[in-house]
Amino acid sequence: MSARVLVSDDLSPEAVKVLEEAGLEVDVKVGLKPDALEAIIGGYDALAVRSATKVTAKLLERATRLKVIGRAGVGVDNVDLDAATRRGVVVMNTPGGSSVTVAELALAMILGLYRHVPAATASVKAGKWEKKKFQGHELSGKTLGVVGIGNIGSVLVDRAVAMKMRVIAYDPFISPEAAAKLGVTLVELDQLWAEADAISLHVPLTEQTRNLVNAGVLARMKRGALLVNCARGGIVDERALADALASGHLGGAALDVFEKEPPPPDHPLFAVESFVCTPHIGASTEEAQSAVAVAIAEQLAAYLQK
Ligand code: NAD
Repeated sequence: MSARVLVSDDLSPEAVKVLEEAGLEVDVKVGLKPDALEAIIGGYDALAVRSATKVTAKLLERATRLKVIGRAGVGVDNVDLDAATRRGVVVMNTPGGSSVTVAELALAMILGLYRHVPAATASVKAGKWEKKKFQGHELSGKTLGVVGIGNIGSVLVDRAVAMKMRVIAYDPFISPEAAAKLGVTLVELDQLWAEADAISLHVPLTEQTRNLVNAGVLARMKRGALLVNCARGGIVDERALADALASGHLGGAALDVFEKEPPPPDHPLFAVESFVCTPHIGASTEEAQSAVAVAIAEQLAAYLQK
């Protein structure tokens, strides 16, 4: 009997084809309520998800046949990893599949802030023509500080070097040789906060990185500096950031991710003109979504055919 795969979030038709061509029996059932998913999960060897399906301990209790869960994307926050491990279920993701896409959003945010694109758009649409107010800055020659130069951070470094920025980075797990190959100088965090004109965060949320950018750190940043977080909510203290922007100490900030998603409508950052944001769409391009769907299908097929 061929192995059965349940696809419970929207993958792409190409990804489903990869699974079928590997001889697997595939059911696509997107948007099931938890109860409905619990009722059928016992019939499957593999589960393919993006971020919408919540793979809870309760669901895993019913997954008596399940061998593997494939998450098309990077973060596995929607999978109870401890429960999966206890049941011997392998969890796979697709690190790297959306790195270019996320790095491009970070770059777009830096460029958008330096040239006031969102605020100037709102101003023109409101019938104003504020040329002086929206005088901006060039990227060229500025110092970019990248915190975390893994898959995404290293793509950003590459793009920033091409844009003629000087790039410094902090990442305790990268060797100076590897950093030099990327064209980046490794520095300590204190130096990065103090020297960078723009700072972009690309670290996971861990005990070490929670609240990494707090009031004290924001105060150490250069006057007029930019801060971008396309990594995870909780790495930046959002209230302290709102204060640093409102006082004019920081020149601008952009968040793709928030402590609480979606953020409350009266969030203190929403009153600040030099703040821009997006609704956690860092990995959301057609190209990346298709790439990670095909990648997870290939990984699942390879695992089930072992
Ligand atoms: P990665 O694991 O390839 O890179 C993370 C890097 O951070 C590693 O090089 C690691 O050495 C470094 N690091 C770990 N702890 C650190 C610390 N305390 N200080 C400095 N560096 C530290 O991960 P990635 O694929 O580059 O992803 C980076 C982040 O982006 C993750 O948090 C991921 O969840 C997030 N992400 C967000 C989106 C989005 O939609 N906005 C999409 C994909 C990934």
